Amino acid sequence: MRKILIVGAGQAGLQLALGLQSHGYEVTVMSNRTADEIRGGRVMSTQCMFHTALQHERDNRINFWEGQAPRIEGLGVSVAGPDGSRAVDWLGRLDGIAQSVDQRVKMAGWMETFAQRGGQLVIHGAAVSDLDFFARRYDLVLVAAGKGELVSMFERDAERSPYDAPQRALAVSYVHGLGPRPEHPGTEAVRCNLVPGVGELFVMPTLTTSGRADILFWEGIPGGPLDAFQGIKDPGEHLAKTLELLEKFVPWEYARATNVELTDAGGTLAGRYAPTVRKPVGRLPGGGAVLGVADVVVANDPVTGQGSNSASKCAASYLRSILDRGDEPFDEEWMRQAFDRYWATAQHVTKWTNAMLAPPPEHVLKLIGSGGELQPVADRFANGFNDPGDFEDWFYDADKADAYLAGLTA
Ligand SMILES: Cc1cc2nc3c(=O)[nH]c(=O)nc-3n(C[C@H](O)[C@H](O)[C@H](O)COP(=O)(O)OP(=O)(O)OC[C@H]3O[C@@H](n4cnc5c(N)ncnc54)[C@H](O)[C@@H]3O)c2cc1C
Repeated sequence: MRKILIVGAGQAGLQLALGLQSHGYEVTVMSNRTADEIRGGRVMSTQCMFHTALQHERDNRINFWEGQAPRIEGLGVSVAGPDGSRAVDWLGRLDGIAQSVDQRVKMAGWMETFAQRGGQLVIHGAAVSDLDFFARRYDLVLVAAGKGELVSMFERDAERSPYDAPQRALAVSYVHGLGPRPEHPGTEAVRCNLVPGVGELFVMPTLTTSGRADILFWEGIPGGPLDAFQGIKDPGEHLAKTLELLEKFVPWEYARATNVELTDAGGTLAGRYAPTVRKPVGRLPGGGAVLGVADVVVANDPVTGQGSNSASKCAASYLRSILDRGDEPFDEEWMRQAFDRYWATAQHVTKWTNAMLAPPPEHVLKLIGSGGELQPVADRFANGFNDPGDFEDWFYDADKADAYLAGLTA
């Protein structure tokens, strides 16, 4: 059977490895951390995944935590007014549930499953020189190592990367003890709180190492008041700063958060990165070629919560391309075609995410504002997180937005 090496044990690498394994491929996964190190380490994401991405996991029969993770039925938007009130506040209904399973739980579990099913798991932080060696021994080498150092093998695609610097400073806290949201206490939802000119606070339920929890996730415009986490090492201090900013900018969320505590010492994360699209084929010094996967080739800011969704979609798309290839060689031409097939959907994610990082134009403010009176607008916006391609038809262009709203009110 064909031999495939996957470097990186994240959403994309492990989902693809488990998929290939179930089709009889001989798969090696190289991870720079063991399952226990991942499980006992720091949180990596907020990893909220929507219907299509979750369905890929179900299709692979690796949706092991679906019964335990909170079932997210809605996605709400609140916009802070100048006086601490909410100028906009609505809840869109998702057609299919969304879920967040802490990557520490999922990746550790998937790694163990992969090994139990006979997969070869190598614990090693791969360097480019390693890949040079392995490219000669495997039919295909896939680099699914996220935003780490190996991206240097893949040329930045300037045409598809409008930003060359981070657009948000990120700060995540996993907490227990968040109170229910009084407006819809029985409905689990992701809440996007937009603070104009300052940034965003996302609140969502998750399944973490200690059971059900909630995530408070600040995205701050660099240099602004939310860009306040650099240099904070102590998790308690990180949470205190998070809450201080909640009280100041989103007091309705702070009102629910007065009794929260961190889930664990690894329950905080801060950082930033520039959204970047790269060329899919990485060149090795010895002349070999490797194919980039998910965040390696298309890394978007998490402001739209798409990276894990995209990783799942990329893994599913590459799996189809690999199966379709049969016994033909995985040459560079095939690699580019495999990426193009994925890019057909990924381009919409990148376009929408980059648009959401910029100050919103007038017609977008109108659309978001109208979600309060027009439930179909709220629902369509919420379901766009599952299928960002839908935004093409009503979101970017002022005329299309007006025509859509006119059709609803006619
Ligand atoms: C704060 C934050 C919030 C987010 N929220 C969401 C969200 O709500 N929804 C969503 O869909 N996405 C979200 N994302 C994005 C999402 O987490 C990523 O896009 C997704 O995890 C990418 O998956 P991946 O498999 O490409 O890479 P990763 O998940 O980064 O996995 C790569 C793996 O490779 C390993 N690795 C790295 N270098 C090497 C090496 N040299 N050798 C071996 N192993 C290596 C890493 O340790 C890691 O385990 C968020 C991201 C952040 C930072």
